Amino acid sequence: MMARAEKLARSRRLDGLQMSERIYLDWNATAPLRPEARAAMIAALDHLGNPSSVHHEGRAARHLIEQAREQVAALVGAEPRNVVFTSGGTEANLMALSPALETLENKSGFDRLMISAVEHASVRAGGSFASHQVEEIPVTPDGVVDIGALKCRLTELQRQGARAPLVSIMAANNETGVIQPVEAAAAALHAIGGLVHVDAVQVAGRIPFDISRSGADLVTVSAHKLGGPKGVGALIKRSSALHLAEPLLRGGGQERGARAGTENVAGIAGFGAAATSAIATMAVDQERMRSLHDQLEAGLERGPTVVFGRNVARLPNTSLFAVPGLRAETALINLDLAGFALSSGSACSSGKVAASHVLAAMGVPENLSSGAIRLSIGPSTCENEIDFFLNAWMKLVAGLSKRKRGLAA
Ligand code: PLP
Repeated sequence: MMARAEKLARSRRLDGLQMSERIYLDWNATAPLRPEARAAMIAALDHLGNPSSVHHEGRAARHLIEQAREQVAALVGAEPRNVVFTSGGTEANLMALSPALETLENKSGFDRLMISAVEHASVRAGGSFASHQVEEIPVTPDGVVDIGALKCRLTELQRQGARAPLVSIMAANNETGVIQPVEAAAAALHAIGGLVHVDAVQVAGRIPFDISRSGADLVTVSAHKLGGPKGVGALIKRSSALHLAEPLLRGGGQERGARAGTENVAGIAGFGAAATSAIATMAVDQERMRSLHDQLEAGLERGPTVVFGRNVARLPNTSLFAVPGLRAETALINLDLAGFALSSGSACSSGKVAASHVLAAMGVPENLSSGAIRLSIGPSTCENEIDFFLNAWMKLVAGLSKRKRGLAA
């Protein structure tokens, strides 16, 4: 009988072999940890102090957090003091969507939240607004937030004498990659004294996004989408005059009173290092991803595949597509067995493969949307991997056509 240690070593070798054979095309769900982030986290784990302590050890831990605050602020061109660290994008969205946001001009808060119809589930949940206070802004068939419809609604609200709302619009959609008209939304809102929150989770570290240029009042970012650790994110304010008057977590005065609780020092340090690394490689990575994206979609176009949001500006790393009659569950299982990791629509719904609210909002019929597959790449994806995928996809589609012909015969 094989000794236990030998068995374990052998299974690890096999695991290693299998892992290196797999092709990861699900970067919008989560990205591999950047080496710089890993190194920063490991170093931070050895820091003993509580960042709130005034002694040497505490100050050393505090230094790591303040350094990361500068690094994360640089992702969107914000002031470091306006960065509030959270447990991720979900918490940052929840924190932003509060009726108790105060500005110099508006101390009475908000009684209405408007969100686009394609927002992430964590925005769709409405934060601390009651469900009757939340309304949706439609999108065009290409998946772009309908600015005309937003402006019409704002005019109507003004005519009714209603208070200006808080609006939440994502910078780019996590399923389609469609880039959203944040600047236009912000201009329309600011003209009437409203505020705009932007979920930039899929954009930060991938393409340039500047908080001042965009006009966003609040921006959500998440570490694990850009090569940092899971479970860390930030809500970033454009101006320090914007006050989060009712913090979700109360207690100690951490994060200038905006979020109580001893900070996740190692996670935050990893986030900071990942942000710096993403900024440094962004220009090159963007070009590389755009060329792979073109290669992928040129290949997909050779068959009956429909690519969603094809005619509008999208992230350089995301494609959402489907073939009529090919169900997403079937495709994902077959692709997984063949060594490919992809999602159907958003990762949060991929476990249960629910119908995509994004495609529904775009008016895509159910028989097509139920087959939607999201392929998202990253800086280390290579041409071969796209070729391997196209090959596997064509085989799947050919198998489907054969079955259809068999049924028709
Ligand atoms: N917003 C968008 C657009 C996302 O894609 C995600 C994650 O999938 C989130 C928010 C949630 O971020 P986190 O996983 O850090 O909670």
